[in-house]
Amino acid sequence: MTPQPLCIGCDKTADQLREYVDLARSEGHPDAATAVRVEEGTYNPANGHFLCTGCYIAAGQPTAPGGWRAP
Ligand SMILES: [Zn+2]
Repeated sequence: MTPQPLCIGCDKTADQLREYVDLARSEGHPDAATAVRVEEGTYNPANGHFLCTGCYIAAGQPTAPGGWRAP
């Protein structure tokens, strides 16, 4: 089962975050969750966790070799 994307910083799902609703529309994805899965670099497909832009900045913009993913 595919996990529902959840920002672990603000505890919001993709469709509650305006930036991903707008991204889905501008990039032609069917919904905000798909936009996160395809476009969001911090998305962890194992558990659905990611950080939205505001939370990523608040977390100090973590990096890792090969790309940082939310735990
Ligand atoms: Zn967030």
